Amino acid sequence: MKPTDTLSARVYQLDIVLAADSLIAVGRLGEFLFPAGRYAYTGSARRNLDARIRRHLSRDKKLRWHIDYLLMAEWAEVVNVRLFEDGECAVNQATAGVVVAPGFGSSDCRSGCGSHLKHLAAS
Ligand SMILES: [Zn+2]
Repeated sequence: MKPTDTLSARVYQLDIVLAADSLIAVGRLGEFLFPAGRYAYTGSARRNLDARIRRHLSRDKKLRWHIDYLLMAEWAEVVNVRLFEDGECAVNQATAGVVVAPGFGSSDCRSGCGSHLKHLAAS
């Protein structure tokens, strides 16, 4: 699966570094211990992908999505954003990693991903 830079992209993947182990309450999903390391979060926006990504990069917002709770954590930082023309779940499933918080970002997932956030293996 190759990242794209075309305007037709509807799917994005955030590369996140969590600099320290963090206990984070993810809204109604519950509280999870996120081990320090790299994470990949895969999401989609039907329109205004730019605005969505800018929102993810901003710390001035009302917490709405699961990812908001992680990105507001003291030690979390988005270090890269990739865009894809493939489906959200296909991109997520092509990303090798471990589920830390079951159900994270996948409330409306119909492909059995289990989570749209993955903790990437240390490299
Ligand atoms: Zn999915």
